[in-house]
Amino acid sequence: MVKVERSPVAPASLEKEAKKKNGSYREKDVIEQLEKDFYAKCYICEIKPVQDPQVEHRLPHHSRKIPERVFDWNNLFYSCSHCNLVKDSKRYEEGIIDCCVRDPEELLELQLIENQVKVIVKSERDAEAIRTAELIEETFNSTSTGIRKQAGQVRLNELQSTMNALYSQLNYFQDNPSDIVTIRMLKGLLNKASKFAGFTRSYAKAHGYEAFIQ
Ligand SMILES: [Zn+2]
Repeated sequence: MVKVERSPVAPASLEKEAKKKNGSYREKDVIEQLEKDFYAKCYICEIKPVQDPQVEHRLPHHSRKIPERVFDWNNLFYSCSHCNLVKDSKRYEEGIIDCCVRDPEELLELQLIENQVKVIVKSERDAEAIRTAELIEETFNSTSTGIRKQAGQVRLNELQSTMNALYSQLNYFQDNPSDIVTIRMLKGLLNKASKFAGFTRSYAKAHGYEAFIQ
């Protein structure tokens, strides 16, 4: 999870749809603006591109029983269907980090260790950060159902290959510190818009490569 700069202007359809009985919060302009603002990746697992994008309500509306949350632009997030489903649990309903307001990188350290995701919470008293860490771990590591296990494994495999690319570029850089192509590749992997950037950036910070983070 990385910080996202949300467009300050809400897509026009939200106001119109909110006045209808069963209005839609996922009109074309909403999806397009979310895709752009969220770098076309799921804000929870950071898979990119998202094959099955969903409009995720950070604070749940409980089948529209809390109507003010349904069309609130600041409550709409871009996610994959797997993360949207995993998050639909009582454990998370008090809210995870709002990555458009708070910088998740200041609150969490994301790691991949032996085919499992581990999320370290930097402040033990931060309930939102704790819930976010549990959610991210669950979206990757859960084996509670066959479908979840498979979706988690797909993400773990993609994350592993991204991390392998990072490790190999860093290794090459050790021996060739002035190689421009390698430096460009590293900056690309560590760009906020890249897939799993929350993980690659955490690794770079923990291992003294902040210089490549822009
Ligand atoms: Zn996801």
